[in-house]
Amino acid sequence: MPTRTVVIIGGGIAGLATAVRLIQNGIQPIVLEKRPFLGGRAYSFTDSDTGMEIDNGQHVFIGACNQFQDYIADIGASDQIRLEERIGFPVLKHGTTRWIKARKLPGALANLSALFGYTHVGRVGQLRILWGLLRIKLTRLGANSTHDLITFDDWLRDHGQNDETLRNFWNLIILPTLNDNITGVSALTGIELIKVALLSGRKNPGMGIPLTGLSTLLGSNARDFIESHGGEIRTGVDVHSLEISDGRITGVRTTSDELVEGEAIVSAVPAAAMIPLIPGGSKGQDDFFTPAESIRTAPIVAIHIWYNRPVVSEKIVVVLDSPLQWVFNETDLKSRTEPGQHIVISLSGAWEWQDRSKQELREIFTAEMAKTFPAARTAIIEKFTIVKMLEATFRVTPGSRRQRLAQRTPLPGFYLAGDWTDTGWPSTMESAVRSGNLAAEYIAEDIGTGDQFTLTQSEQGT
Ligand SMILES: Cc1cc2nc3c(=O)[nH]c(=O)nc-3n(C[C@H](O)[C@H](O)[C@H](O)COP(=O)(O)OP(=O)(O)OC[C@H]3O[C@@H](n4cnc5c(N)ncnc54)[C@H](O)[C@@H]3O)c2cc1C
Repeated sequence: MPTRTVVIIGGGIAGLATAVRLIQNGIQPIVLEKRPFLGGRAYSFTDSDTGMEIDNGQHVFIGACNQFQDYIADIGASDQIRLEERIGFPVLKHGTTRWIKARKLPGALANLSALFGYTHVGRVGQLRILWGLLRIKLTRLGANSTHDLITFDDWLRDHGQNDETLRNFWNLIILPTLNDNITGVSALTGIELIKVALLSGRKNPGMGIPLTGLSTLLGSNARDFIESHGGEIRTGVDVHSLEISDGRITGVRTTSDELVEGEAIVSAVPAAAMIPLIPGGSKGQDDFFTPAESIRTAPIVAIHIWYNRPVVSEKIVVVLDSPLQWVFNETDLKSRTEPGQHIVISLSGAWEWQDRSKQELREIFTAEMAKTFPAARTAIIEKFTIVKMLEATFRVTPGSRRQRLAQRTPLPGFYLAGDWTDTGWPSTMESAVRSGNLAAEYIAEDIGTGDQFTLTQSEQGT
């Protein structure tokens, strides 16, 4: 049975992953979450009209997200996600569809073959892209890499890319994965992403999707695992400050003035919520925490339309030269059998849309759907709703790498988790899980483990 106790502030993916990994190390976690539900920025809610579980935003992962998939396996939910074998999705441009689709070839060759039939970029453009990929493959990224200081757009232009390849290929990948335009992200993050997604194994860029609502997948399954292994989860508990004794963080004080003590404390909240918890502010801690104050966020707007009959035949369609960006056929993706079709239009880097009214967005996006998908012209819209997440992800602008803090802090007894901490991954579920695993491993090193009971297959090296 677990013998040590650690308090985790925040019940998002990072906090829950920390708890699961602590349990695997024989340490008992207590998760304190201020909202009434778990999942943080990845949750779902029940729509009162349809009774359906609707996600707060379309969440996908790729094959390369191995710690996320291991975590899902650990909480017993592998049957609630599906991963495509290899990359493959249609791209629609001015009425013409072309596929980015990998052939059955070994390793990264399969990924490169995905370009062959993709004629939204001309022959010369395809050669340019292959050249850019080669240059990325050959680029070394050290700890002091200057690639963090320039934009990925500038770097790619310096390496043979032009408007055509940037718009029709590179930004098509960067915008949804980094939730920002290619002109706004650092070359370091762009290169890291392409290396892991496209230039490694054939499975790495395969797209994965949840088959259930996010609160079931990430909330209920994690709760069941944690509670059935001796951990504790308390929702509706807002942590106000850290408690210090003899120069060591020994507990947290809640807004209702309750003291919750532990051998170690993990902050698994976004950077902006972590800073006010630090005693005396971030200054005075050798400036360890100060860089995190500069973290900025980017919005995602999800547009949900329920048509009375199918209007999109594929599960996912990317639309170029249109505000539609990525269109998800939620009905087919989740293998639902209801009549009609539930479409989700996921708008990344959505500064342009975040302040528009529901009515304005309805006019613009239903018209755009009708223009792009002929069947949408005559289908009846049964319901329309929008979900705006204004602080959906942290930004990876040039110079932002130093904002990402290590999970082990200079404050004895205090650790960090959260997608924004230093994991090498952008703002993703994979980053959140990695941060939790790292925080838990540091704690186990520092305070010692209890009785360990299980290891995932990948940890066992199989
Ligand atoms: C619309 C949208 C779409 C996305 N799409 C994708 C995608 O396709 N793929 C992908 O991989 N990622 C995606 N993401 C990003 C992903 O959701 C996040 O990276 C991940 O959920 C971050 O988890 P976290 O635990 O680090 O932080 P959070 O989810 O922010 O969790 C922090 C938790 O701490 C709680 N908290 C804060 N302050 C306190 C306090 N004082 N006391 C107690 N609790 C507190 C919060 O309520 C929250 O539950 C998307 C995000 C959004 C919003």
